[in-house]
Amino acid sequence: MAQKGWLGADLIFDIDADHISTPCDKLHDVWVCSGCCFAGRGKAPERCPQCGGERFETNVWACEVCLETAKIEVLKLLDILLEDFGFSEDEVHVFFSGHRGYHVQVESDVVRGLDSVARKEIVDYVLGLGLDAKFHGLGSLDIYDASRLISGPSLADSGWRGRIARGVYEILLDVSQKRLEELGLSRRIAKVIVENKNRILESWDRGGPWGVIRGVGLESWRKLIECGVIFQSAKVDTVVTTDIHRLIRLEGTLHGKTGFKKTMVELSRIEEFDPFKEGIAFKKGTVKVFVTESPKVRVGDESFGPFCNQEVELPMAAAMLLLCKGVARVADEDV
Ligand SMILES: [Zn+2]
Ligand SMILES: [Zn+2]
Repeated sequence: MAQKGWLGADLIFDIDADHISTPCDKLHDVWVCSGCCFAGRGKAPERCPQCGGERFETNVWACEVCLETAKIEVLKLLDILLEDFGFSEDEVHVFFSGHRGYHVQVESDVVRGLDSVARKEIVDYVLGLGLDAKFHGLGSLDIYDASRLISGPSLADSGWRGRIARGVYEILLDVSQKRLEELGLSRRIAKVIVENKNRILESWDRGGPWGVIRGVGLESWRKLIECGVIFQSAKVDTVVTTDIHRLIRLEGTLHGKTGFKKTMVELSRIEEFDPFKEGIAFKKGTVKVFVTESPKVRVGDESFGPFCNQEVELPMAAAMLLLCKGVARVADEDV
């Protein structure tokens, strides 16, 4: 072992619905406590509410919402890799993982030798961790009155400066009094922002200052920026990127939980890529299965289920999905 040498590793990002909160997990995910068999829907709790156990069997599914949510994170990540890091489109490859997300792989000599500390720095950048707004253009031009003449980054700025501005802009576009108060702003300041929203946005569109209105200080803008950063950051799995000894599945290999294959997504048509269609590996034939319990699933252009303790004849890919999920068994004697 001592004579083995580490040659290098591609820079890998894993974006998985497991790490992003999606509104749909309550609809399709189930967990069962390994200790007492207490069960529930959605993400498993830290501790079982019945016996306090910490181990759970889970069965998670991917739906359109999960994979669309993951795709939005991929698009944000691509923007960062291409615009901020300056990788070329030939060096960055996107794949549907075959289950609940996407792999983004950077293959370039400049990344191959990076150690895990360097990769953690890249992850922090992508996640927008540790950004201090004052180093990105937020400041007061008037030392006597901090609520006046506040400067901030512009929408067209490059790097995180522009992202901060665009993130806050996005919040303001769809702002409400209640939302701002939830973010920790006082009722008075929230009211000022809601009433003057259009003035602020118009000023920013012209590249003007942040503080065109009185009464909103640096601290309030900082809170808005924190939220804007969350909007703009790409939710990657930190561990996958920083671990330089991991193997990643190759394109065309099957995912054991679905029977779908890892599939290359061309950057030019990422928005229209349909994982439930283009990830199908088993394209021919049908098979009869007995399904214990399954949510509605789409495979190709058709949807199947929900099923509960019934025998159905399904196209091979749909049957394979339910078999891989462990919710069905083959009922057809001949197969
Ligand atoms: Zn329990
Ligand atoms: Zn979902």
